[in-house]
Amino acid sequence: MVRYRILTNANFVTDGDRPDVGAVAIIDERIAALGELQEVRRQVGADTETVDLQGATVFPGFSDNHVHVLNFGRSRMGVPCWPSDVGSVGEIVERVRQAHRKAPAGKWLRGRGYDPSRLAEKRAPTADELDLEDDRCVVLDSFDFHRRVGNNAALKAAGIGPGTADPADGEIIRDSHGVPTGELVDGARGLLDRVMPPWTRDEDETAIQIASDHFLSLGFTGVTNAAPLTMSHRGEEVAAFLRLSEKDALRLRFVSMMRAELLEEARSLGLRPGIGGPRFRLGGAKVFADGALGTRTAYLSEEYVDGSGLGMMRMELSELEDLVHEGAASEWQMCVHAQGDSAVEAVAGMMSKYPATGQAPHRIEHCSLTSPSTIQVMAGAGIIPVPQLGFLRYRAADFVDALGEARVARLYPLRSWIDAGLKPIHSSDSPVIADARPQVAIATAMGRTDDAGNTWGPEESVSFAEAVAMMTSWAAAAYGLEHRLGHIDIGYTADFTVFAEDPRRHSADELVDIAPTHTIVGGDTAWQAV
Ligand SMILES: [Zn+2]
Repeated sequence: MVRYRILTNANFVTDGDRPDVGAVAIIDERIAALGELQEVRRQVGADTETVDLQGATVFPGFSDNHVHVLNFGRSRMGVPCWPSDVGSVGEIVERVRQAHRKAPAGKWLRGRGYDPSRLAEKRAPTADELDLEDDRCVVLDSFDFHRRVGNNAALKAAGIGPGTADPADGEIIRDSHGVPTGELVDGARGLLDRVMPPWTRDEDETAIQIASDHFLSLGFTGVTNAAPLTMSHRGEEVAAFLRLSEKDALRLRFVSMMRAELLEEARSLGLRPGIGGPRFRLGGAKVFADGALGTRTAYLSEEYVDGSGLGMMRMELSELEDLVHEGAASEWQMCVHAQGDSAVEAVAGMMSKYPATGQAPHRIEHCSLTSPSTIQVMAGAGIIPVPQLGFLRYRAADFVDALGEARVARLYPLRSWIDAGLKPIHSSDSPVIADARPQVAIATAMGRTDDAGNTWGPEESVSFAEAVAMMTSWAAAAYGLEHRLGHIDIGYTADFTVFAEDPRRHSADELVDIAPTHTIVGGDTAWQAV
């Protein structure tokens, strides 16, 4: 049965700002007519169901284009260790003991979110502190998933001891006697993945629904899953989205990347980018070029200011280039994580050598530091930068310790990118950054102010309209869907982010408190502020 409805009494933000558009008619999930209410009624019938939006301002649906969706859901399912949950190692130990009393015997306890810099002791818990009397295994991941700590039972299950060598792409933290403390950094985290029981299919679906509730309540109509943070997992995330898509149980639009290391298998199974349904599509192929700034593993052209070197690439350049080549040749959009300027430069060079041959251009995830010459290469090749203004807002102090003030001012140079012709797209990297509110990202893109009130590189500021384009029209173009998503016009999907008051009337500082009040997906209200 074809469904008709009209949304009216609102200020719809259209291309070219047409003040006459006070109503839109929706047939099924698409916009069929727009203009003054009378005109729209004349086109689709005066007796059509009409929703009064009471003077709201309506934008095309916002999308967050790099989220670890299952990690977000799982982070709300394990032992809560986020800075908003605990303030000390002692409290983490107490939370683990509480969870231990409730968990079925033998089940591994997992937790998420600890941030050593925000715990009273200024360090992670140790394996000894997390030991439980019945030898239950405990594994806690850090807020940014670059670190994890296992208790002695978990280390033993994984065979990690004083004689275990560090993997090439990570580190086993040791005490002065060479004994592992329990903490594993970057690639060393994978030593535990090999023995941890996998999440069940039901748990995967629950995680997606927890994330859906969260992102709808922030005003997002679309979210891109940036593949598992723990890259040792295989294709189970894509499978979970496909199951929910088949059951018609997805309440917003998802795209999921998959690991680039699976390209060969994907091709042999006939899996292609873009497969799925109206609420789920398989997106690009994700691979890591380098690490992170906080862990000093992002690959830089100039040393970290604390003398910890230049960072490192996560794989050989030739190996990475083969992956980009192979992916591009089989129509995959390559989504390469690169943070340091040297890593971004190398990746931009490979992407311009092997441009995308499918629907969507290549992307550089994070793209934290970019030299002027790299920006020119990216502009020439139409590469999409995928920054997170949330990092500038919430991690600026840590970045100053790593990079010094001058380089922090040059992080995510939106103005330079846009002036060079690049079209960056918005993302939060949630749950790595806990606050994924779109209005906070917009405010930070406009004001470049961190949560301590410092302003970083104000010359890189952008306008409100540009910050919104990063979540709407530019995001749609980055998926090759600019004819379907990201605009309010006839034929476009009826996804809307609605504000009771017009956020365009507010300064960057005020915007932080102006939240969306409705999220409309495919013409239906999927969430509404109470
Ligand atoms: Zn990420």
